[in-house]
Amino acid sequence: MSKAPHIYGIETLAIHAGARPEPVTGARNTPIYQTTAYAFEDTDHAADLFNLQTFGFIYSRLTNPTVAVLEERVASLEGGRAAVCAASGHAAQFLAFFTLLDPGDEFLASTNLYGGSITQFSHSFKRLGWNCHFVDPKDPENFRRALTPKCKAIFVEALANPGGVVVDLEPVAAIAKDAGIPLIVDNTLATPYLCRPLEWGADLIVHSTTKFLSGHGTSMGGALVESGKFDWARDGKFPTMTEPDPAYHGLTFYEMFGDFGFTMKARTVALRDFGPAMSPTNAFYTITGIESLPVRMDRHVANAETVAAFLEGHKAVAWVSYAGLKSSPYFDLAKKYLPKGAGSVFTFGLRGGYEAGIKLVESVNLFSHLANIGDTRSLILHPASTTHRQLTDEQRAAAGAGPDVIRLSIGLETAGDLLADLDQGLATR
Ligand SMILES: *Cc1c(COP(=O)(O)O)cnc(C)c1O
Repeated sequence: MSKAPHIYGIETLAIHAGARPEPVTGARNTPIYQTTAYAFEDTDHAADLFNLQTFGFIYSRLTNPTVAVLEERVASLEGGRAAVCAASGHAAQFLAFFTLLDPGDEFLASTNLYGGSITQFSHSFKRLGWNCHFVDPKDPENFRRALTPKCKAIFVEALANPGGVVVDLEPVAAIAKDAGIPLIVDNTLATPYLCRPLEWGADLIVHSTTKFLSGHGTSMGGALVESGKFDWARDGKFPTMTEPDPAYHGLTFYEMFGDFGFTMKARTVALRDFGPAMSPTNAFYTITGIESLPVRMDRHVANAETVAAFLEGHKAVAWVSYAGLKSSPYFDLAKKYLPKGAGSVFTFGLRGGYEAGIKLVESVNLFSHLANIGDTRSLILHPASTTHRQLTDEQRAAAGAGPDVIRLSIGLETAGDLLADLDQGLATR
């Protein structure tokens, strides 16, 4: 009887997956292949590459060896089959939807999303003929009720930005499966260290690697991961996957590439023709960031739990919405889907409303007032006057970004220093 193969833990994968010493020099770290193009062996090799009959490098808009290491690493951390990286999280979302949808198609998205995603879906995507219906995820059945025959995907954030909302992934995945459409999860806030949506039935994952994966506020990037388990041919709903592609001499992506066909199509059509490629230097920073993801996330979570508990007991604070607090209506879902902690981005409300929010962000010293999350540094933001400014009052309220709301992204500093800074900021009012 043969022994089951040893399976590496996530800390090991974060350091090793996708990378090996560089074969010519032995360089142990992944080099930054800062090159645009790659020499062909001969004309036959070139022809095979262009026809997708062999794997290799042609031009860095499509593939680059540094970016390829990151792609394999993110796919491996998520437990997926393959991944394609992009210049930003929003670019990765574009690659996903361009590969899924034709003009006139529809999809469902959670109301609890990053503000930029709500804007991308409700305005720019609409101009391409892709129609998004927003659904309150608190009751998973809301997704089933909102389905239409033209719906080709359901999109949620497992742990949502900014409201500390945890979506019940398992029933939402079952609804998508019944409908024969993929569940896409934006796993940016949780990261694969805290939550692995593919294990709960998701089919595609998107990331803004800009945030916790790169982890130091240095590099924009995005990733799209496929599980390899979705049956694109089941109901004939995805002709982009199952019908011959005129842009590749009639090649049919699902038939040719099977369980990584979606990634191939996203790369060789959407990325090729629209061009939001990740730079090799950003891939390098992101690979380096991911190596410490597990230890960073543990510290992010520990600090966030300390700060959330402190704010909950503060008299200037009306409420705290952090799924890691017992008082949160999402505490039980967080225990299930995020057993190692509910991340480090959460919101709280000030008794003093909009004015008090502006005062607080202007009086803290250690917290940086800016529109980012997932940095080593602690960050503070008043969404109503910044990231969620373009939304209507209704959309803001639905997204958990009302006028009194402050968003924090807790960093890796000494917890007591964060408490002291917030305490003095709250006292100056
Ligand atoms: C930042 C963010 C995005 C967009 O990513 P960019 O890298 O800024 O394009 C998408 N989803 C979530 C949850 C985010 O936090």
